[in-house]
Amino acid sequence: MAEVLVLVDHVDGEVKKVTYELLTAARALGEPSAVVVGAPGTAGKVKDSLASYGAAKVYVAESDDANGYLVTPKVDALSAVAEQASPAAVLVAATSEGKEVAGRLAIRLGGGLLVDAVGINSDGSVDQSIFGGAFSVKAKAAKGTPVISVRPGGVEAEAADGAAAEETVSLPAVDAAKSAKITGVEPVVGGDRPELTEASIVVSGGRGVGSAEKFDVIEKLADSLGAAVGASRAAVDSGYYPAQFQVGQTGKTVSPQLYVALGISGAIQHRAGMQTSKTIVAVNKDAEAPIFEIADFGVVGDLFNVAPQLTDEVAKRK
Ligand code: FAD
Repeated sequence: MAEVLVLVDHVDGEVKKVTYELLTAARALGEPSAVVVGAPGTAGKVKDSLASYGAAKVYVAESDDANGYLVTPKVDALSAVAEQASPAAVLVAATSEGKEVAGRLAIRLGGGLLVDAVGINSDGSVDQSIFGGAFSVKAKAAKGTPVISVRPGGVEAEAADGAAAEETVSLPAVDAAKSAKITGVEPVVGGDRPELTEASIVVSGGRGVGSAEKFDVIEKLADSLGAAVGASRAAVDSGYYPAQFQVGQTGKTVSPQLYVALGISGAIQHRAGMQTSKTIVAVNKDAEAPIFEIADFGVVGDLFNVAPQLTDEVAKRK
């Protein structure tokens, strides 16, 4: 059976949920092999969990440089393994970093690049959702090894047994002159909350929140639910919330179990980043707001009345 390479998305050996989704999606095309790029000792931490989602092999590319540079070590490792294994495809998460890895790798391998897939089919085609979800597209790479970026939350992760046989990959020394070095890592606002693209609940605020101070209404509801906080671009551009929390076409793509949109109109560019959420709840004082077209549950009302009541109600039920 053909191998399908999956780049393991992790932070210091803590595997992100999207990796399990990629391992699940890979099974449509062949046998998933995980590629771990990280500091020495990383593979030991992640191997068991990769096995439990069907990784037949684990390629281990560890070096002191691996965590010190953006993307280059990952592209080097994947291209080295791809040359050796001739996989049916290479899968990476469609995160900002993953997309850059995918683009660079496709150039190196001379293969087709399929971005933002929400499904992978056994004939090698992928499903994409475009124009803010208005159209579904099936696309297939015309040549070479396809490199596919898969949208976090696009595929449901399913456990499966894998042997996780280890194979070492030697990473070439990073060419410092051509690579971006990481000079420092700082925790961001909301560091105690789940990561936006990983969270199973996301509570987002829009321009309707009205100010940075009032965003605490959104944060309180999020904290009562153990959720991540998101924001529309209008909220970000107005300085209400930091840009790394923007959801949408030019922000992050999320696909949680529950997405709560407060004071967000539901522009197509916002929907592009959240409409694959399993359940959407919208609170908006305008009954005609387009967000209600995709909401499973909607409240026509003032978010400053609704959100605190919701927060209290959730607290009572804990
Ligand atoms: P508005 O459209 O102004 O809506 C505010 C809503 O809040 C209204 O519906 C109003 O009825 C409601 N409201 C006001 N007060 C209250 C209250 N007290 N209680 C309840 N409801 C209230 N947008 C994104 O979000 N993400 C993106 O990534 C993104 N990328 C873009 C890329 C491009 C190329 C372009 C052109 C645009 C992009 N946009 C993006 C912007 C997008 O078009 C919208 O302008 C934006 O999503 C609007 O944000 P909003 O819904 O918060 O604001």
